[in-house]
Amino acid sequence: MKDFDLKLPDTLEAAVGELPAEYSRDGAQVLAGGQDIVTVMKDDIEQPAALVSLQRLGLDGMQWDERGGLTIGATVTIQTLAEEASIERGLPALREAARSVGSPQIRSQGTLGGNLNQRPRCPYYRHPSVSCFKKGGSVCLAEFGFNKYAAIFGGGPSYYSHPSDLATVLVMLGATATIAGPGGERQVPLAELYVLPDQALDTETVLRPDEILTSVSIPAPAADARSSYLKYKERASYDFALAAVAVSVNRGDDGVVTDARVVLGGVAPKPWEVPAAAAALVGKAMAPEAWTAAGEAAVADADPLEHNGYKVHLVKGLLFRALEALV
Ligand SMILES: Cc1cc2nc3c(=O)[nH]c(=O)nc-3n(C[C@H](O)[C@H](O)[C@H](O)COP(=O)(O)OP(=O)(O)OC[C@H]3O[C@@H](n4cnc5c(N)ncnc54)[C@H](O)[C@@H]3O)c2cc1C
Repeated sequence: MKDFDLKLPDTLEAAVGELPAEYSRDGAQVLAGGQDIVTVMKDDIEQPAALVSLQRLGLDGMQWDERGGLTIGATVTIQTLAEEASIERGLPALREAARSVGSPQIRSQGTLGGNLNQRPRCPYYRHPSVSCFKKGGSVCLAEFGFNKYAAIFGGGPSYYSHPSDLATVLVMLGATATIAGPGGERQVPLAELYVLPDQALDTETVLRPDEILTSVSIPAPAADARSSYLKYKERASYDFALAAVAVSVNRGDDGVVTDARVVLGGVAPKPWEVPAAAAALVGKAMAPEAWTAAGEAAVADADPLEHNGYKVHLVKGLLFRALEALV
C-alpha cells in the first residue's frame, strides 16, 4: 500500500476543496468508514495520494419531518439504521436492508454514504493482478470467464453487479441524495444516482470526483403502503446479495393493489427497477397468481451469462416470497 496524506477538514467547503476536478487513480478521494476505500488501496486497485475524511463535517444526524419523511446524514452508520426504533416503525424495509448488510462489525464501521458509493465486488475487479475495463483495461473477464456473481440485466461492456443493499431499498422508497460540490448543492433521485457500464467505466455514479454525498432524504410513505426487502446470500453469516428484491404495495379498501414498486438488487450494475413487475400487480388482488405474474414480468428482459442463469429463478422466488410476506 502506498503512503497517502490524511486530510481532516472541518467544513464541507474545505473538504470539497481538497478533491480533484478530474478522476485519476492517484487523485484525492473521500474517506468515510474506510472499509472499502482502504481495502481497494491495500489491494493496489486505487492509489489515492490523499484521503479526505468526512469525520469532522457533522454529517452524522437523522431528522424526521412532521409528515413522516426522513433525512439521513451520509456518515450515519449502517448499524444505526439497523437498530433505530423509529426506522423499524416508519421504514421497516430500510431496517431489513440495513440488517442484511455484512456483520455487526461491518455495519458499525460502514456508513450510509460509503455503502452507496462502494466499488463493485466483481472478483476480477478486486483481484490485484488482473486488468479489466473497470481498471482502465480493455476487457471484461466476467463476460466469458467466471460469471456466477455477474449481472443478468444492464451488463456490457462490463458485467459487475451492484453490491449495496441500501441503494436497492432507497430506490424503491423514492429517496433523493443531496450532493455538495464546488458549485454548491444539488439533489439527485437515488434512481438516477447510478450509471450503467455503457455510460461510464471509471465510476458507478453521477458524482463527480470533487463532489460529496451529504445526505439522503426519504419521502413519507403513503399511509396504505407496505414494503419489504428480501435478500438471498450464499453464506448465511454475512455476504453480499446474489439477488435481492425491494417491493412496496398500496392497496385500496377492497384489497386490490392500487400502486406498486419493484426494485431488484445484486442482478445488475445498478439497482434495477422493473416497472413491468409492478404493473403486473396493479389492479389485482394480492394472491399467488399475481405474484407469479410479477415474477415472470420481472425477469422477462434478463440476459444471463454462462454461470448466472440461477439468478433468474432466484428473482422470481424472492419476489413471490416478499409479496407473500406483505399479506
Ligand atoms: C466482508 C464484507 C461484507 C460486506 N457485506 C455487505 C453486504 O452484505 N451488503 C452491503 O450493502 N455491503 C456490504 N459490505 C460493504 C460495506 O457495507 C461497505 O464496505 C461499507 O458500507 C463502506 O462504507 P464506509 O463508510 O466504510 O466507506 P468507505 O470505505 O470510506 O468509502 C467507500 C467508497 O465510497 C466513497 N465515499 C464514501 N462516503 C462518501 C460520500 N459521502 N460521498 C461520496 N463518496 C463517498 C469513498 O471515496 C469510497 O470510494 C461488506 C463489506 C465487507 C468488507
